[in-house]
Amino acid sequence: MGPLVETKKEDTQRILKNLKVYLGKKKSSPMVFSFAKFFSKNPFIILVSCLLSLRSKDVMTIPVCMKLFDLAKTPKELLNIPVDQLEEVIRPIGFFRKKAIVLKSVSAQIVDEFGGKVPRTEEELLSIGGVGRKTANLVLSVAFDIPAICVDVHVHRIFNRLGLIKTKTPGQTEVALAKLFPKKKWSEINELFVAFGQNVCTPTSPICSDCPIRFACEQRGVARRR
Ligand code: SF4
Repeated sequence: MGPLVETKKEDTQRILKNLKVYLGKKKSSPMVFSFAKFFSKNPFIILVSCLLSLRSKDVMTIPVCMKLFDLAKTPKELLNIPVDQLEEVIRPIGFFRKKAIVLKSVSAQIVDEFGGKVPRTEEELLSIGGVGRKTANLVLSVAFDIPAICVDVHVHRIFNRLGLIKTKTPGQTEVALAKLFPKKKWSEINELFVAFGQNVCTPTSPICSDCPIRFACEQRGVARRR
């Protein structure tokens, strides 16, 4: 049966619906989705905010992104920022030196190979150095409205806790979720589960007492809960 141990497809629609209602009331939206709304789905801004957010909390990344986007909203503009200035702008977030190098090389590749425009296929996005599946899928779904499942740590953790899948890697989770959800729902998954994972189903001690999808949860691997 592959990485899918159980397929509770009948629960999946209710899970998405309950999360939408719950998070809608809390007006909770992850950073990349807020930027997408604010900057009219500018693909380069979405790509850069994804890259800067890797291994960095939204609360640290948001002000850095805003400062950077004041200076550059296109690959060409970003290439015009001197490296030491770029490092200074993104210094508050982790791995800022490495991320500055990635931002420069990603921008150069987009200018050289794609005419300055972020490409809109998975294959082309993955050909850009520093862009992995998670980032590529988020750019496709958020910037271009192309169905794609972006699996980050929250998505991977929560679906395994629910017991809907039993997977070891984000790659396996992506494959399992693609079987569990119809294509038209793929792009909803990341926004809902990241916001939920940041606020309720947190890595340690999730708030199960205020969980809108508890009906479907086996709480697999949850040692402590509130
Ligand atoms: S019941 Fe607890 S472990 Fe399960 S999804 Fe809700 S918060 Fe997460």
